[in-house]
Amino acid sequence: MPGDRKRPHVIVGPGVTFGFAGLLVALALLTHAADATGPGFSTAMPVGGLAVLWFLLRGARVLSIETVVLGVTVFAADLILGSEPDLAAAMAGAVVVQTLVTVVLLRRWCSGLWGCGGDRPLDRPRVLARYGAALALGMAVGAALATVGWTLLADRTTDLGGALWFGRSLCSTLVVVTSGLLVGERITSEPPRPRLLSGATWFELLAAVAFTVGMYVVAFWFEQLPLAFPLVAASVWFGLRFSTLLSAVHSLLVGTATLALTVRDIGPFAAVDHTSVGYLLAEFYVATIAVTGLGLSTGRDEREALAAELRRTQEEAEYQASVREAVIGSMNEGLFVLDDQGAVLLHNPAAAEIFGIAEDVMTREALVARSNRWADGTPLPDAERPSSRALAGETVRDVEILVSPGSDLPDRVVSVSAIPLPRDSSRGRARALVLFRDATTEHARREELAAFAGVVAHDLRNPLAAIDGWTEMIADELDSGGLDAQLAREFVSRVRSSSRRMRELIRDLLAHATSSSRELDVARVDVAELVAEVAAARHAEKHVSCRAVPPVLADDVLIRQVLDNLIGNALKYVAPGVEPCITVRGCPHPPGFVTVQVVDNGIGIPTGEEDAIFDEFHRAHYRDYEGSGLGLSIVRRIITRHDGTISARANPDGPGSVFEFTLPAYDG
Ligand code: ADP
Repeated sequence: MPGDRKRPHVIVGPGVTFGFAGLLVALALLTHAADATGPGFSTAMPVGGLAVLWFLLRGARVLSIETVVLGVTVFAADLILGSEPDLAAAMAGAVVVQTLVTVVLLRRWCSGLWGCGGDRPLDRPRVLARYGAALALGMAVGAALATVGWTLLADRTTDLGGALWFGRSLCSTLVVVTSGLLVGERITSEPPRPRLLSGATWFELLAAVAFTVGMYVVAFWFEQLPLAFPLVAASVWFGLRFSTLLSAVHSLLVGTATLALTVRDIGPFAAVDHTSVGYLLAEFYVATIAVTGLGLSTGRDEREALAAELRRTQEEAEYQASVREAVIGSMNEGLFVLDDQGAVLLHNPAAAEIFGIAEDVMTREALVARSNRWADGTPLPDAERPSSRALAGETVRDVEILVSPGSDLPDRVVSVSAIPLPRDSSRGRARALVLFRDATTEHARREELAAFAGVVAHDLRNPLAAIDGWTEMIADELDSGGLDAQLAREFVSRVRSSSRRMRELIRDLLAHATSSSRELDVARVDVAELVAEVAAARHAEKHVSCRAVPPVLADDVLIRQVLDNLIGNALKYVAPGVEPCITVRGCPHPPGFVTVQVVDNGIGIPTGEEDAIFDEFHRAHYRDYEGSGLGLSIVRRIITRHDGTISARANPDGPGSVFEFTLPAYDG
């Protein structure tokens, strides 16, 4: 059988096989006395449920040792009870087939159920229907086979034989298998387990038990009265108020009691004239109360499971909402959601801060009023706003606009992305999510970089053009044969001078790039020591003197670069024939800082250009002195990174200039 190909999960150990086999024989012997009217039937009542439960718990396959043991046990039990061997064999065959059919059907139709391949208890009416159908079909097959065997071999007929087999087996499976599986699932499941009383109290359980006992005493005591129907009320009580497990156990107990009393000729069912009809009525009564109780309690269980699921979902949703709120609230990026009616449905504190709008007056008008220009300052038409485009269904990425937060705060360049959100179908409105971040620094950097790249390209092109020109002239002269050694030397020296200029420019460009990217590694720095090193490296010791400078807290590699640039310039920018004279001095001022001055006797800075000379590529004396115009911008960048300031002015004590910068004092 296809459903049996995979080995089902074994739940209990092999010892249980003999336990079940022994139990079957014992029960067969016990029930025989009361069941003398139908040889071969004695095994039906307990066998039906016990054999199915046994196979399910052992995970037995169709062809397995369990099948053989079951067959032999039932055969032996029937023999002991006086059956003919051929009839005993037929009955054993019927029991084996009905058990296998039921087990296979249960594994196929209720594969999620604990014991049938899954791990769930019987807690849903839909599964109960499939479960009941599998039991009924399996037992019907057994009853049919038993009837055929019995008719052919027993040499006598009983009109209700098949029905009695079916009824007993069905009762037995409904109460025994159901209780067994529910108890097994409960024992093996991981806590927390659903409550056994399922919301009811122990007192109510006691009351329900007392009611059941009372009803049964009345019904079975006054057996001449048709008082069976109030018994159903007890099962309804258990089904409505207690868990499926308690309801099944209740059915098991009252079912067993009903059948045991009936076969002992006690109670309303035994009062029926025809004994077999009485048995049959009792069997179908037990099946009815079992199904009623289980139907009600599984319905309850399902409702409770759904309610618990709903609670879990609600808690999960609340948790998700709190996480979302925390994430949105802690984002540096501004965020808002708005709809096509202009309502701001959601925004975070960063949005309010970037736009300089109080959280409680966040409206679309306020947002529009503060962001109505592109990053270059030109007006931003409403239709081209990222939010308007997203509301129209377009996804917009990284558009830069200008935001004026007001209150004398400077304008900010903001990079905006906007995406359309699913429509609010209940209100029929389009919605959009707008995300933005402050891109002011980035924008300024980019602008700066673009200008920088333009100048670099220009400055590199000049010496290159010169090299091209001179080499072309060398080639021409060579072609015309008029290149004498003197001229050649002149041309080559021009080419070399241009290439030197390019090399220096490239070196300065690299220094410029690293001056901002290098990690600051601050420590105690002795400025006088660095000055001496720089002067020595430039062979200018006799032109450079340094007075006492308090120690500073700085990156010595970068400060060396600062001093090298300033001393290099001081040596370079002197009038022809003038001996450079450079003094470096320092004092502890302002508090926490040291001011360092580099004083020279050079040509001085043209008036009005004292600040401009710190800009990239700005050269005040570009005619007579070579240079890239990058040195001072590197110096300023390094000093600024150390939280210091730098300025230049004319030397008040004579010709030349004073370059003055501050650095954090070393106070160790
Ligand atoms: P470079 O020296 O390569 O031209 P810098 O950025 O070092 O570039 O200097 C920028 C400009 O500032 C120089 O071109 C020069 O005109 C002026 N300058 C710098 N240092 C001095 C100085 N000590 N005396 C006079 N002018 C100076």
